[in-house]
Amino acid sequence: MKADKFSVTEAAELYSIPNWSGGWFRVNDDGEMEVTPSPGLSVVIKDVVDELVERGESMPFILRFPQVLAGRVKQLNESFHKAIDEYNYKGAYQGVFPIKVNQRRLVVESIAQAGYQYAHGLEAGSKAELALCLAQKMHPDALLCCNGFKDDGFIKLALWGRSLGKNVVITIEKFSELERILKQARALGVKPAIGVRFKLHARGSGQWEESGGDQAKFGLNAYELLQVVERLKEENMLDSLVMLHTHIGSQITDIRRIKVAVREATQTYAGLMAAGASLKYLNIGGGLGVDYDGSKTTFYASTNYTLAEYAADVVYTVQEVCKARQVAEPTIISESGRALTAHHSVLIVPVVDVTGPTRNLQDIPPASEDTHQIVKDLEDVLENITTRNYREMYNDAVGDKQTLHNLFDLGYVSLPDRARGEALFNAILRKVAKMVSGEKYVPDELEDLQKVLADKYICNFSLFQSLPDNWAIQALFPIIPLSRLDEKPTRQATLVDITCDSDGKIEKFIDLRDVRATLPLHEPGDEPYYLGIFLAGAYQDVLGSAHNLFGKVSEAHVTVRSGGRYHIDLFVRGQKARRMIESMGYEEGMLRESIEDQADEAIKEGWLTDQQEVEMLEDYGEELLGYTYLEYEEI
Ligand SMILES: *Cc1c(COP(=O)(O)O)cnc(C)c1O
Repeated sequence: MKADKFSVTEAAELYSIPNWSGGWFRVNDDGEMEVTPSPGLSVVIKDVVDELVERGESMPFILRFPQVLAGRVKQLNESFHKAIDEYNYKGAYQGVFPIKVNQRRLVVESIAQAGYQYAHGLEAGSKAELALCLAQKMHPDALLCCNGFKDDGFIKLALWGRSLGKNVVITIEKFSELERILKQARALGVKPAIGVRFKLHARGSGQWEESGGDQAKFGLNAYELLQVVERLKEENMLDSLVMLHTHIGSQITDIRRIKVAVREATQTYAGLMAAGASLKYLNIGGGLGVDYDGSKTTFYASTNYTLAEYAADVVYTVQEVCKARQVAEPTIISESGRALTAHHSVLIVPVVDVTGPTRNLQDIPPASEDTHQIVKDLEDVLENITTRNYREMYNDAVGDKQTLHNLFDLGYVSLPDRARGEALFNAILRKVAKMVSGEKYVPDELEDLQKVLADKYICNFSLFQSLPDNWAIQALFPIIPLSRLDEKPTRQATLVDITCDSDGKIEKFIDLRDVRATLPLHEPGDEPYYLGIFLAGAYQDVLGSAHNLFGKVSEAHVTVRSGGRYHIDLFVRGQKARRMIESMGYEEGMLRESIEDQADEAIKEGWLTDQQEVEMLEDYGEELLGYTYLEYEEI
């Protein structure tokens, strides 16, 4: 039974789906979200979810689509190739994937595999990341860039990588690293390939503006850069210097900032060439953004350019400077991470309950004989509020409620009076909400009303584990019901997670103008109601933390086949409770022993029977091996 028919076109518009999806997701005619890895291929996301649930897998989980990763690698490389053809640029383009954005095996392997034909490489920022990258099969020309501060072990590992035939480039992030590299290269007898990171004075835009500029954490200044050239000349090793590296931060929202930075980087490249260096690669770093809200603006959750425009502007700018400075056009390297990975995964969270001021008990408790005057004042407001006076009356009610609470604290208002007063206030809220819902413009003083009245949809997930950037830096992600998109959403909601942290909530949602305080959702019915959290494939998997010991969530790797079919290539179960507890320094044996000892004592005291002990230990053991998230059964 579908109440209130509403078209899927309206749903697409309401949730801005075509604006942020980049063509990877769409709503079908039955009102269901689909993933569309290429024009002829699509699958209903809820079908995959239903199958996993049927198999007995617990939610929440992440669906990963390797074809989307491969598609993004292709789009990035082909955008650059197209720009190179168009401008008749003499150099090449080669990307590297900075694995810090997502080191999950499926992600790195899918990118390495799809990138092989483009000689797309990898970037490591630590010893552990380098160890992981060295084990990947890569095109012999593909770069393996080593960024980040380095000790001798890091440098040695990088040098051995060259002996394995890999195109490893060690980036100097601070001046003293040069001597370390020279020393280890001598000791190992391996000729290094060196890059040097330059502190551009240009800055990014958006939330990572501080990554660039003179105060940046990484990089050399102009004088240090020239000293590197001199020192390498002395060693007769200037040919080892192959790359200039720059990076002005992630999610650059404004294409003009990118052009300014690329111009400065290319001028620097030309300057190094003039100083005698024979560089080959110009690395422009990351920063290629993702339009999370689909607004195509310089808002922090958006970008005012497309992938094609990015590639064209970079190639054009490098060429322009090279022509003016008469230097050979370099191989352009970009370290795009966010843009390659954001789209590939969808976090699926079930709504497990709904609460809110309009859903709590709505009866108004009866008045007592000596009802306090302040409660009577609220009665008056409720009785006399009309569409003509509601603004004024609403403000009166807000004041009265405040007074009610103050009087309660002082002992002048009884608990039953407080209960009646609050119920009256909520009834007033509901009345005002009805009056406002017909109006086009909500008066400023009532703007918060929507948020106050909103339902809280309780979702079975941890924000801190699965969407840390929403908590830490207010990053926005598109959140869409997986089905019922042919039905008008009748509720306005905010989302809360299941951690015991009041910060574990989502109260900001994407909008084409600014941000929305509430998300339109459907009234959950008898069927499970699932939300998809989209574009969360970059950074979230690694930055997530184990608040309340909610662990890594389960994930399915899904390949889409023709005819709406799909294949679940792999299902990886999320972390078990035991793993989470052990990661805090406890041991499973110790836990079980403690419970057994306590149970034995309890039996002696007569609190527990032998049979109950067996059952209890069974339940305890089962939870240690269980998923950390809620696993509700029917009441
Ligand atoms: C983090 C980082 C990147 C990745 O940036 P994105 O904006 O995710 O593409 C690239 N290069 C360096 C040096 C980085 O630190």
